[in-house]
Amino acid sequence: MQTVIVKTYRGSQSVATAEFQKDAVVMARMGYFPTTQNYAQGSYGCGAFLLALLLCFVIVGVLIFIYMLIVKPDGTLSVTFELKSATQEQKNTVSPPEKQCPKCAEMVKQEAKICRFCGHSFEQIDD
Ligand SMILES: [Zn+2]
Repeated sequence: MQTVIVKTYRGSQSVATAEFQKDAVVMARMGYFPTTQNYAQGSYGCGAFLLALLLCFVIVGVLIFIYMLIVKPDGTLSVTFELKSATQEQKNTVSPPEKQCPKCAEMVKQEAKICRFCGHSFEQIDD
């Protein structure tokens, strides 16, 4: 009869431990009690590991690509300012109302009493 039996339980640490605990009950009935236990983390093959690593990069790349498609980068708004003198601005915005002179057909200011081109008096017509 063997005095020492080494048993191995495969699986993740929790699964292996559960398997061991089930087996320990059976072993105890036969008079065997656990003395030492050691869990060695299993390792994947080099190829599988590299493949997973590569897929990792691919997935990250895809995620970055999707992010780039969805989220637009900050844009730049270019505004050109031009220095304009106050008098020039006044000319552009405030144009005084004008009337046409009935005699010379030139445009004169609405408030004008006498045409500045031909000297026609507007007041004479009004009266
Ligand atoms: Zn006139």
